[in-house]
Amino acid sequence: MLDNLNPATGQIIAKIPNSNHADVAKATDAAKLALPNWRGLTKGERINWLNKIAQALEERSEDIAKTESMDTGKPIALARRVDAARSISNFRFFAKHAEQLTENKFTMADATNYVIRKPVGVVGLITPWNLPLYLLSWKVAPALVMGNTIVAKPSEMTPMTANLLAKTLHDIDFPKGVVNIVHGLGPSTGQAILEHPEICAISFTGGTETGKIVAKTAGPMFKKLSLELGGKNATIILDDADLETAATGAAKAAFTNSGQVCLCGSRVLIDAKIYDAFVPKFIDAVAAMKVGNPADESTDIGSVISQQHMEKVLSYIELAKQEGGTITHGGQRIIPNHASLQNGSFISPTVIENLSISSRCATEEIFGPVVTLHKFDSDFEAIEMANSTQYGLAGSIWTSDTTRGKQFAKQIDSGILWVNTWLHRDLRTPFGGVKNSGVGREGGDWSLNFFSELSNICVKDD
Ligand code: NDP
Repeated sequence: MLDNLNPATGQIIAKIPNSNHADVAKATDAAKLALPNWRGLTKGERINWLNKIAQALEERSEDIAKTESMDTGKPIALARRVDAARSISNFRFFAKHAEQLTENKFTMADATNYVIRKPVGVVGLITPWNLPLYLLSWKVAPALVMGNTIVAKPSEMTPMTANLLAKTLHDIDFPKGVVNIVHGLGPSTGQAILEHPEICAISFTGGTETGKIVAKTAGPMFKKLSLELGGKNATIILDDADLETAATGAAKAAFTNSGQVCLCGSRVLIDAKIYDAFVPKFIDAVAAMKVGNPADESTDIGSVISQQHMEKVLSYIELAKQEGGTITHGGQRIIPNHASLQNGSFISPTVIENLSISSRCATEEIFGPVVTLHKFDSDFEAIEMANSTQYGLAGSIWTSDTTRGKQFAKQIDSGILWVNTWLHRDLRTPFGGVKNSGVGREGGDWSLNFFSELSNICVKDD
């Protein structure tokens, strides 16, 4: 068994099984056995199940938020607004989106082609710790609606809400064997999922280095692969931006969930003409964020995911000093004034100036509450700076001229770009990165395509 800790208190809150290859094999057998009946349901019947799951999760939404907050150290308000709400809406969204799927038909002079969709089969889902149930349900819902059965592994650091989902499925008499959750460590349990020959597709969200292992293992087995990986996203403040709005937006983009969202804007690029006017407003917005007890309704920033991760983030702050950076705000561990939080992993939101855009702190994914600020002298330089990392996941542009913002966005090598907003999601749109941020897209049709195989049936006319 493995200990599961609350990172805000350092206390053990649960024990989870450290599953091995044999456990993954049993889960896969169960998924295989359940596949014929599940794929044999009509699409409408599977849509009904998705809506039932959403309803049952909604009845537990406060439990989801509290559990997620305890397991990750994130503020309860954020867990309610984002994690619980989105986990439920993922099921509702894919139920509705699948309804609109139509089959293509191509007529020839003497024959008709029918393009039909089949499930891929047993699919493996591997997810990270930053948005545990949100990211798991983002894969489970489209996989189910397309008729697949599932073997899923959540991060061993945040297993609780995956377990809650399993209990919920049990309580609503969801067909057995269709969703199998296997807890354990990445290199053993996760690797066993990648290697299992009966698992036909892998949908993975996590770090780029792990993504390489996933691709190396599953690629030669010709498994269908979806890789959603890391990022080092730029927030770009153009000279005509509304500085108050941009400062608040950039602070939110940098520090939501302690900077532990793959879409966080961890580099802020600012036009030199407005740099001196923008930075104090940005610091004011950061300083207004309340760091502390995740259970407190007014907390904006909770703990980071673990003590080990806190040490990694703090080591980057030390590295920034060695690289010539100036810590303008924060820069240290915080021990909140609350007896139960003395061993928690809290870091003050940290703003660093004067670093080179090519420094390690400005190019490597820190995945914590740390942002670096950089000046640019021309739009051309801003684009070069934005594109100067191995990553290409997301970014935001702040300007009072939305046409200019859109033109600017076209030149950034990233899969997701926002103008004057951040984390504004329409679930029908493609989600994913370019370069080392991933391969493939999730969302809307892209998720339904990934979790299905197309067959063309050509029927010769009588
Ligand atoms: P990791 O890559 O460390 O882990 C992701 C998942 O992979 C975990 O469940 C992990 O298990 C598992 N894993 C680790 N090693 C293996 C292996 N050899 N075989 C199979 N599975 C394995 O990422 P983190 O959990 O640290 O998450 C943070 C990262 O995720 C960041 O880089 C972030 O940018 C990225 N991310 C990307 C998103 C996107 O949509 N592009 C969204 C959210 C996060 P275990 O935890 O037990 O080791």
